[in-house]
Amino acid sequence: IRYQAEKGWHDAQVTARGPLSLDPASAVLHYAQEIFEGMKAYRTPAGDAVLFRPDANAARFRESARRMAMPELPDELFVGAVEALVNIDRDWIPAVEGGSLYLRPFMFASEVFLGVKPSSEYLFLVIASSVGAYFKGGKDAVTVWVSSDYTRAAPGGTGAAKCGGNYAAGLIAQAQASENGCDQVVFLDAVERRYVEELGGMNIFFVFDDGSMLTPPLGTVLPGITRASVMTMARDKGVEVREQLYSMEDWRTDAASGRLKEVFACGTAAVITAIGEVRGTEHGFTIGNGGTGPVTRALRDELTGIQRGTRPDPYGWVKKVG
Ligand code: PMP
Repeated sequence: IRYQAEKGWHDAQVTARGPLSLDPASAVLHYAQEIFEGMKAYRTPAGDAVLFRPDANAARFRESARRMAMPELPDELFVGAVEALVNIDRDWIPAVEGGSLYLRPFMFASEVFLGVKPSSEYLFLVIASSVGAYFKGGKDAVTVWVSSDYTRAAPGGTGAAKCGGNYAAGLIAQAQASENGCDQVVFLDAVERRYVEELGGMNIFFVFDDGSMLTPPLGTVLPGITRASVMTMARDKGVEVREQLYSMEDWRTDAASGRLKEVFACGTAAVITAIGEVRGTEHGFTIGNGGTGPVTRALRDELTGIQRGTRPDPYGWVKKVG
């Protein structure tokens, strides 16, 4: 779908995937005015294609657009485009365990000019691709690398927006994590460099021995849809979930004392995955026995069950396509 300031959104098309032709002076190539979403379509046992909370992705996309001085795409156009593509590609939704059709809606500035100002022309596209499990080798729990060199978001910056530039700035930290044999990077706050914020592509939860849970507050972190869903499910079971700052010192001492029972990461790609080990230039410790604990497992089973249509959906999160 195209956007031009004078025409609004128009020219919706479905085409075979292929290269885009862009003028070298297209605004996105210079000033990175680009935002995206990540979502998945699943196949239910009854054979239906379903999406998980597409309205939440549409709402976050609007917020990202606002932050990046881009036009807001109405929710019905966002969800309508995603549904139209899933409908066409429904045979490509893998039926295998852990498989899904990954959807990548994105929008970028396409106006041809070199001045620094918001573009007046944009392109919104959705691509689809079949995917299997996120972490290779069906790992039980992942190892994370705490970045002491780089942060991902400062107050007043773009941390809460899903814009490409955030990920470009985080790549070097993710590369360091990989070089050190870790699966994901943990980013700390940009001001004090003490408080845990989130992973490269996931939010984080801590589970304590009194049954309560904690997740870092919104502000500079991405407001994850999985994060919000986990909070709803846990609170529904009577679990106290605090949105509170949590420092690396607390993480280390709580892990050592046994007060901290489980830690997990969550996001569309990996859904819910236990964090077993923490490493960094100043860190090296294990959480519990380094595997997946019972709270993490129960939440994962419930959430994946809702998403795949094998468990009841009391929240109305799953939307059938077609
Ligand atoms: N944080 C970051 C930085 C992410 O890229 C993602 C993935 N979109 C998340 C958190 C989790 O968000 P969601 O649950 O909506 O996938």
